Order: sequence, then C-alpha cells, then structure tokens
Amino acid sequence: MMWLVRVLSPCVKYVDVILPLALPGLLTYGVPEDDAARVGAGMRVVVPLRGKRLHTAVVRRVHSERPEHSTEAYLTLLDNVPLISETTLRFWDWVSGHYCCGPGEVALAALPSGMRLASETKLELSPDAEELNEDALDDRGFQVVEALRLRGGLSFKEVGAMLGLVNPAPVLHKLVEQGWVLSTEEMKAAPRRKAVSMVRLSEQATADDRWLSDALDTLDARAPSQSRAMMALLSEDQAATGVPLGDLTNREGVTGALFKRLAEKGLVFSFKQSPWEVSSTAAVEPLADLSSAQQSALTAIQQGQRDKSLVLLEGVTGSGKTEVYTHLIHDALASGKDALFLVPEIALTTQLIVRLRRFFGDRLEVYHSRFSPRERTSTYRRVASREGRGRLMVGARSAIFLPFSNLGLIVVDEEHDASYKQQDPAPRYQARDAAAMLGKLHGASVVLGSATPSLEARWAVDAGRAAHVLLTERFGGTSLPEVCLVDLRKAHKSRAMEGHFSKELRDALQQTLDDGKQAILFQNRRGFAPVYQCRTCGWVPDCERCDVSLTYHKFLRDLHCHYCGYRQSEPRQCPRCGSEEVQAKGLGTERIEEEVGQLFPGVAVQRMDLDTTRSRTGHERIIQAFERGEIQVLVGTQMVTKGLDFENVGLVGILQADQMLHYPDFRALERTFQLLTQVAGRAGRRGERGKVLVQTFDPEHWVFGHVVTHDAQAMALAELQERKSFGYPPVQRLIRLILRHRDPQLTRECAAALAGRMRSRFGGRVVGPEEPGIARVNDLYQRHILLKMERDVDPARFKSALLEDIAAMRAVDSYRPVRVIIDVDPY
Ligand code: ADP
Ligand code: ZN
Ligand code: ZN
Repeated sequence: MMWLVRVLSPCVKYVDVILPLALPGLLTYGVPEDDAARVGAGMRVVVPLRGKRLHTAVVRRVHSERPEHSTEAYLTLLDNVPLISETTLRFWDWVSGHYCCGPGEVALAALPSGMRLASETKLELSPDAEELNEDALDDRGFQVVEALRLRGGLSFKEVGAMLGLVNPAPVLHKLVEQGWVLSTEEMKAAPRRKAVSMVRLSEQATADDRWLSDALDTLDARAPSQSRAMMALLSEDQAATGVPLGDLTNREGVTGALFKRLAEKGLVFSFKQSPWEVSSTAAVEPLADLSSAQQSALTAIQQGQRDKSLVLLEGVTGSGKTEVYTHLIHDALASGKDALFLVPEIALTTQLIVRLRRFFGDRLEVYHSRFSPRERTSTYRRVASREGRGRLMVGARSAIFLPFSNLGLIVVDEEHDASYKQQDPAPRYQARDAAAMLGKLHGASVVLGSATPSLEARWAVDAGRAAHVLLTERFGGTSLPEVCLVDLRKAHKSRAMEGHFSKELRDALQQTLDDGKQAILFQNRRGFAPVYQCRTCGWVPDCERCDVSLTYHKFLRDLHCHYCGYRQSEPRQCPRCGSEEVQAKGLGTERIEEEVGQLFPGVAVQRMDLDTTRSRTGHERIIQAFERGEIQVLVGTQMVTKGLDFENVGLVGILQADQMLHYPDFRALERTFQLLTQVAGRAGRRGERGKVLVQTFDPEHWVFGHVVTHDAQAMALAELQERKSFGYPPVQRLIRLILRHRDPQLTRECAAALAGRMRSRFGGRVVGPEEPGIARVNDLYQRHILLKMERDVDPARFKSALLEDIAAMRAVDSYRPVRVIIDVDPY
C-alpha cells in the first residue's frame, strides 16, 4: 500500500486519535516529520485503518510515548488550527465516560458527516453547487465536480482513482467545506428545504403611522400599481413579520417587481426564509419591559448565577419565562459571549423562534439534526472558527455538541421534557444533564426553566447545587385556569356520555364556542382507536414483529405498529373465528375529531398529531390556522402541550387521563402531572380565566388533586417520598442494560448469566432480568437488567466494574452475538 511508505523518524511524536466509529478507545498513530511542529489536539487527520480503509479522525492528544505495537503514521493533517477546542474535547470525554460509550460514538454524534469523510463515503454534488462560482475551484476540485455532474455520485475511492491519489480526503474536504459536495448520507438525511421569498413592512412603516399614511397617499396618486401591492401586503395579518411573496403575487396586478420598488422607497423589506432560517437584516426590537415579578426573578437568577453555576427557574405556565430568558441572553451576548438555548423539539418551536428573532435578529441561529447538511456543516464550522461572537444558538438536544469556545449562558427550556434524552443510538445522553456539565466546563451559567420541574432539577436544588427561583404569577395577572375533574364512572353509569364526551365537557365546549373562544382537546394516543378487536372471540391484531397490538387509522383504513412502522390493511373478518364483527374500540385523536364533528356540526375542527404533521410545515400550518381563528377546536396529542401560546383558548379538555397514570414506568405519575399541567396551561393565557376539564375513571387519585391546585411543589414532595422508598432516581442513580437477540431462549439465558455475575459483585443493587413491557420489537427479544447506584459511590469505579462483568459474559462464545446496550440514567 502506498501510504505505508511514509516512514517514521526515530524521535517521533505520536497522536492518540478519536475515530468516529463505535470503537472502545483511542488509536495511536505516528506524526509525519513535517507536521511535528503543527499538529495539535482538536485537529483532524486522515488515517489508514487495518491497512484497507481511510478515515477522518480527531486528534485527542499529542505525545512522545512510543506505543508497544508498531505504529503507522497518519496520512494528512486537515486543519491548521484546532477545529474542536480543548473544552469541547473534554466535554466529549465526559459524555463518553458518563454514558459508557466509546469516544468515537460521541464524535459520530457530534460531527456533521461532511467533516468525517471515510473510504466508504459516497459523494454527490450538492444542490447548492449550481449557485457557486467555478472560478474558485482548483484543478482537482474542478475535475471532481465535473465527474459528479456527469455520473451523479462517486465513492471516496472512485474519486481517489480518478485523481490518481490514494488519499483524496484533502481535496474532498475542501469541496465539502465550500459547499460543492455532500455525502450521500447527508443528502438522504435531510432533503433541501427551499428558501421562500418573503416580504414584510419596514421598521419605519410599522413604527410610524403618520409616515406610512403619507407614503400611501403619495403612492395612490403617483404609482397606483405599487399602491395595490402595498394594500395586498397590509391586508395580511403577518404583514409586520413576513408574508410569502407567492401569496401576494397571485393577486391580480401584483408582481414581485412592484415590491422591489416599494423596498427602494423604504416601505417594505424583502428577505428569503426557510422556516427556521435567519433573515440577515431582520429588524431588532428592544427587549420587552419586565413585570415586577419577572424583574425580581431576573435579579434572583443573576444573584443565583453568581453563587452557583446552575439555576432552576420554576415559573407557572404563562408567567413569561421566555421574556426573562431574553434579558439573560441579551446580557450574555452583550459581553461578547455565545448563548445556547435548548428546546425539546425544534419542529414544535416555531412560535418561540419567531419571538426570539424579533429581539435578536440575525444573531439567532438554529441548529438541529434534521437540518440540511450544508447548513449543519457550515454552522458547525462557523462556531468552530469563532467567527461572529455573541450569537444565540437555538437548538434541540444535539446542539450541545457544537464546538463552542466562548459560551456564557445555556438555557434549557422545558427542562422536564423527556425528549432531552437520546434513546438510540449511543451516546444515550440526557441533554439537560449534559448541558449542566457543558456549562461547568465553559464557566457558563446554566438556567433550567419549567412550570413543572423534573425531580432531578429539584434534587439539584436540595443538594445545594442549583439556585431556585420562582415565578408564581402569570404575566398580566391572568389567573391560572380552573381545573375540574369529571368522574367517568358516574357519567357512564348515568348514561350521560355521548361518545367520549361527558355532559360537562359537552356543555363547556358549547359555552366556549358560543363565547367565540377556541378549545383544545387532548388525547394521548394517535390513531382512531388503540385497539381493533373481534367482538365475537376477542381476537386483537398484533404486530408481526413486536409484542404490541396494532393501532387502527380510520383515515388510511389500515392498522399500524407505532413501534416498528409495520402496517396492514383493515381486516374484513376475524382471522381466528371468521366473524365479521371486527371493529375499533377505545379512542385516539381521529375518533375524537370525528365525534366533535358529530356533536357540533359545522364546527371547524382540526387534529394535530404525528400523522397530520408529518410534512415539515404541517405543524406550522395548523398552528397558524389556529392562531388566526380558522380552527375552533384543536384535537391533539402531546404536541399541543409544548410551549404553545395562543390568546383565545377558553377551554382545554382532557378526554381520558388514566392511561398515562398506569404506564409501566417509575416516572409515570410525575409525567402525568407534568403533561396535564402543561396542557392545562394552554387555557386562558390572556384576559379571562380559562377552564380545564379532566375526564377520569379515578378522580380520587392523589395526582389529580395536585393538578387541580396547580401545586407542583406538593406533587414533587409526595413523589420524592415514593422514589426514596423504592430507591429510584433522583435519589439513586440507575443504569439499565438492554440485551437483544432474535433467539428468545438465548436472550433469556444470557441475561440470567449476566445478572448472576453482577449480583455477586453488586448484590441487591441488581434488579432483574425482567421482560420489558414490550418483550419483542422488530423481531428482537429483549431483557432488561437494572443496576441501582447510590449517590455517594464513585460512579467511575462502578461503571468500570460493570464493564468488566459485561466483558466476562461476552467471553462466553455462545453469548457473544447477544447485543448489550448500556443506558445510563435511562428515561
Ligand atoms: P411561559 O413560557 O412562562 O409559559 P411565555 O413566555 O410564553 O410564558 O409568556 C406568556 C405570554 O405573555 C406571551 O404571549 C408573552 O409574549 C407575554 N409576556 C410575558 N412577559 C411579557 C412582558 N414582560 N411584556 C410583554 N408581554 C409579555
Ligand atoms: Zn373472532
Ligand atoms: Zn411492530
């Protein structure tokens, strides 16, 4: 092989590198003589692996300790300055240590794939390429671009062969950076979103009525077609924030050119926007003045930041936590530092981003794993290059992996939300907890915000690690909604139900509609009905690959598995007894939507769940239609609980609160409280007090009592007692081992063997093996083993002992094919 030719001189340096692969540790390579003075931690190098493949790796450490085995030199140094700062590398170390995964798995999650090309990487011409200038390409670059144009796609190796280079990585990395080329993986991961041309009123037109009306008079007299265009814009609700140009130019006599004229006159402003993209010259408004309650919370947070690196802001729904954050962010940016704002799910956060953008304009950037690869790579690079300090980065959990070098503040909004936990693949991190560590490493303060704080956050307060700041009133003095429980047992007995609606809920809904207000109905499940059943013999259709029953979707007339995506068409008759009386029972969002239509004919009802929001803009469209009042009743799943802020919601109805209570998970009660409180918090946010009706078969359950009184602290106190008596988080730590294999017998044996081994070391801390609620997913059988860990033990020693046990178990040949997944702090 040609690359072995580079021989190492005797007094060599070595690098320990992180390969973005699922490998346990670091690999060591020699440093070619020419690079000895330049190479440093955080730079990328191209390395050969097992004499066959090339990989892009990250240097973790440079040293001169000769390894025991003979060592090859790496091939190319790709960066002149570290792409990844030492602080970021230390964060990677922590993630890999805490969550028991390889450093390469962290790198895999952290680095956009364009930054870690390897021999296997397939490459395509980026859709952006047509807009780039070919003069900027060197000969080799040009050759590659031409070849990709002709052939569609090439592998890394093919590019090498074409250029006559063993290692085409430097050429390719350059093309990726310039935006010419993408890996096919990236292309598939996220199709390009097309930016839309938008128009909005200029700042002056918005701020100065007199000026605007004078300008309109002039237009009327001298340029009637421009005046028409202006009136078209003014007739839109969103005129001040932005209207797609296409919506305006489809009107008679209105063209894009007219808006150009209007822009020249300073009346409008045009920009391009994909839903979350930055509009670079957007107007920046001054921050809102805080209410006195918000002001004291802000002062308390600032005080807290001085004493502790962590602050918990517990503010009831509608208290205006976002407004408080904006002041903190403003201060961080003003001191030249970056701020990171984490949200549970970016797709559900458009409202928030629009709000923040008003204050921070183009200093706000959004980062998300489903973003276009080009955007991700370029954002990553911009952050790494320390260009443009003082930016606000808004992102979902993966944004913690951006290579910040100057972070001053991290806000974790809705910190209780389970979406902060990454389930699969490794690293299985909890972004809130990781953010606390990231803040510590950067010396940045971390603010956790929620109306329903997690027990973990409260634990940090109790342990003296976090300051606690309360915001107990809603902004504008609106009272928290009145929560009433409706006893479904009584309602059924007295035959007062119509479909799934009690009389109380029907009356309240009617009243709400009569008052010209809107309602939100919450149902936890998707689909028409959770179960489809034969009424004669009780047969229920199950997924062929998982141990769960299928969910019926009336709209699609088929049955789905929500775990693996399996679908089959609706059966006409029971396959077991032949009866034709097979039908859906139970309830999902689709059924509720249909019942609303029957009970309140003519009412505008819309459903919001994963099925109606699958397209990127589906969710936004529904929210905007609801904001504009085009929808009177919104029926939704969890999605409607997340941070939405609507003015006119008079009623929130929860159709069946019991399912959540009985979910087999030690956090079920905590979650139920959070979910109900959050969804209730959508009611009556401005003006009149809103109403919430919770239908349940179990109205005496203590959790509902706390929901009615909005008492998050009492709820937490009671729940913490439970966790104490059963030794669950946050009182103790948990590690969950998941064993998976096709063969149920082998999985069982292997789990028993591992648990036995663990028990002899950890004793009563080991729970299981147990069959999880769903024993088989996608044809793989599962067994769980739980390991409890007291708060005062050394977690590192605990974990390495655990890894030893796993390694010893895997030394048995027959057990080796069983996959063992380690999930630290599982959710
Ligand atoms: P939370 O996130 O705490 O539920 P929000 O931040 O969504 O509450 O605020 C609720 C509503 O009150 C929003 O519409 C927000 O614009 C408004 N609001 C809050 N604080 C202020 C303020 N200081 N000035 C003007 N409007 C505010
Ligand atoms: Zn049957
Ligand atoms: Zn399935």
